[in-house]
Amino acid sequence: MRLADKIDGALVRTAAQHVAPIRNAIAGSVDVDAAVEAFLNTFPIGSTVTPNQVREWARTNIPTKTSALVDILHTVYATGYVLGEDSSNAHYGNASLAKDASPTDFGAAIGIDWSKWKPGNRPAELLVRGRGRLRQLLNRTNATIKDISDTTLNRIGTVLADGLRVGAAGDTVAREFMKAGIKDLLNDPRRAVAIANTEMARAMSVASVDNYQNLGVEQVEWIGMEPCDLCQENEDAGPVDMGGEFPSGDTEPPAHPNCRCTIAPVVEGQTIKTTNPDLTKRGVPGPVEVERALSRLIVLPNPAHPELASMGDEDKYVESPWRTVEVPTVDPNVWDNADLALVKMADLVGTDPYLRRKNVKKHIKNMGQAVTPYRSNALIVVKDGANIIIDGHHRLMARWLLGQDTAPVWKVEI
Ligand SMILES: [Zn+2]
Repeated sequence: MRLADKIDGALVRTAAQHVAPIRNAIAGSVDVDAAVEAFLNTFPIGSTVTPNQVREWARTNIPTKTSALVDILHTVYATGYVLGEDSSNAHYGNASLAKDASPTDFGAAIGIDWSKWKPGNRPAELLVRGRGRLRQLLNRTNATIKDISDTTLNRIGTVLADGLRVGAAGDTVAREFMKAGIKDLLNDPRRAVAIANTEMARAMSVASVDNYQNLGVEQVEWIGMEPCDLCQENEDAGPVDMGGEFPSGDTEPPAHPNCRCTIAPVVEGQTIKTTNPDLTKRGVPGPVEVERALSRLIVLPNPAHPELASMGDEDKYVESPWRTVEVPTVDPNVWDNADLALVKMADLVGTDPYLRRKNVKKHIKNMGQAVTPYRSNALIVVKDGANIIIDGHHRLMARWLLGQDTAPVWKVEI
């Protein structure tokens, strides 16, 4: 059984505990007798009115009481968030284990017995303190409830419109038809289940994204749970950058009501094999350094390269500051053996004779902004004593222009 399936079991079981309160809250949100009387005062039996007009009337004229639903959804969100923290840790631990990339911190999460998972007091504590994007989710509760209420009122409108058509049998029959129909739809257990599952899954996703961001995860995958075509396509798309859109246009589940899909992190098989703090520090340049680096870039000459001149593209490029050599043959698994190291700018040898000004500029402006800078360090191979840049010319040039004389890189001997 996949980890995602075990977690889904915990989601469905935990969400089920909120179904009855959600159902009661929706049932109590409308005064059915008052709504039917108000409707018949406006549109007596025999009125000609379209179902759409009745739904419109219902949405604007039937009052709803939603305070009970607010409290329940807050609990669902906080509980889902706690489940999302635990499950994303487990996903992260699992993915790290598979890549042999330091899963030790997540041993507890990997060992969770999902068939017995309980949130404990954590949801209540979370509601007091808030955390990450949970705050935004809680702030959006009223908008979510407005959607739920609008759906309810639309359905009530449909029943009222149907009731007008049975009106020929007499007012009492129409009245009873309307009241019974509305009570039925307000008590719909499947709808309460869908709301509990969807809203809990939503909070789980929010917690997962918060957690993956803290862990420095750069890419995530969509894991379909009884996926519809839309969600299957999201899963088939494979890894997507954190915050990027899946084919459905969503950055995270749920993609639709009743969606219980989750996201799992893509963990690279890279461990930080160093205790040197210089290698993992972020090194954010000040605004003056950035301005100075940008003006240095502007005055550097265009590369004198016949190929660029023939395209009339020279001013988009800048000469590389390093001597260049042919690209050496590099094993595709080169990253597996790479270590973090500091290299001197002056000792580097390039493989690109000219670089794009725009990219260098972007790296100057974004230098040190990554949460896990070591992941995006340049790759250097050492061949015959030369430090050859394989990947990362632009960011290294940005560092050079920022006045840094050493750079943290991934380094491997070949
Ligand atoms: Zn889905």
